[in-house]
Amino acid sequence: MAEKKRLLQILDLLKMLPRTNCKECGFPTCMAFATHVLREGATPGKCPYWQPEDLAFVEQTLIDQGADSAYPDHLFSARKFVQGKIKDYDFALIAKKIGARLVGEGADAYLVINLCERLYRVDKENVTPLDDGEHDLWEHILLYNYVAEAGGRPLTGNWVPMESLPGSLAKRKAFVRGCEEKIASAFSGRPELLRQALAILKAEFPALESNAEVAAVIYPLPMIPFQLLFWDAAAEDGFSAQVKILFDETVLDYLDIESLVFLGENLAQRLIGLCP
Ligand code: SF4
Repeated sequence: MAEKKRLLQILDLLKMLPRTNCKECGFPTCMAFATHVLREGATPGKCPYWQPEDLAFVEQTLIDQGADSAYPDHLFSARKFVQGKIKDYDFALIAKKIGARLVGEGADAYLVINLCERLYRVDKENVTPLDDGEHDLWEHILLYNYVAEAGGRPLTGNWVPMESLPGSLAKRKAFVRGCEEKIASAFSGRPELLRQALAILKAEFPALESNAEVAAVIYPLPMIPFQLLFWDAAAEDGFSAQVKILFDETVLDYLDIESLVFLGENLAQRLIGLCP
C-alpha cells in the first residue's frame, strides 16, 4: 500500500522561510505567517523571500492536500452561507448603494469592488482580483458580506469608536490587535512613512480636530471610511506608538462587526506591505 504523504506542518514552512521576522508579509513573525498560511488560509506568496522552488512546492502541496487543509472548514461554510444570501440579488439595484461598478446585465452581471485599492470582480460564484494577484478566502467572505448587506443610510460624517457600536464588545480586542496595534508598531518612529503608505492607498488628510501626528480618512471599502489617528512613540515619557480608528456611525449598515475586524486587518497588512 502506498505510504500516505505527511501533511505540511508549521515547522516545515519555517525551515523554508528566512526567519528574519521582517513583517513585510503583514504578520509580526515568520512563525505567525506560517501559522496563518496553514491554519487560516493566508496566501503563501505574501512573503517575498521564499526560494522560488520552495514557494512552488508549498503552493502545490497545499493544493494537493486539498483546500480543507489550508482553510478551516468553517470558512468554506461561511462563504457558502453568504453566497446563498446574495443568490437572488439584482446587482443592478445595489451596485450604486455600495459604491461598486456594475458590469454586464441580467444573469451575467457582476460587481467590481475596490478593497484597499485593489479591484475585485464579485459574481455569484466567485471572487477574483482584476490584477490576477493573490487573494484568499477571508477576502471572499468579506466582499460577499459587504454585498449581502446591500448598503444602508447615507454616510453622516459623525465619527464613532468601535466600542460604541452594538455587539462590538467581543470583537474590540481582535480589532485592536489585528489592526490598530499592528499599524502602530510597524510605523513607530516613522510617521512620514505611514503618511506615504496612506497616500498610496488614496487616503485624504483633512484638517481634523485631533492632536494626532497623522490624521487621515481612508476608504478600505467604498462606503466604509476609516478615520485613522496615529500618535508616535515618546520614549522619554514611556509611551509607545498608538493608533485609533474611528468609523462613520452608519458603518454597521454596510458590514457586520466580524467582517469589520477583518477589514481592519486587511488594511493593516496593506499599509505594512507598502512600508520599506
Ligand atoms: S515577510 Fe513575513 S514570513 Fe517573510 S521573512 Fe518577513 S516576516 Fe518572515
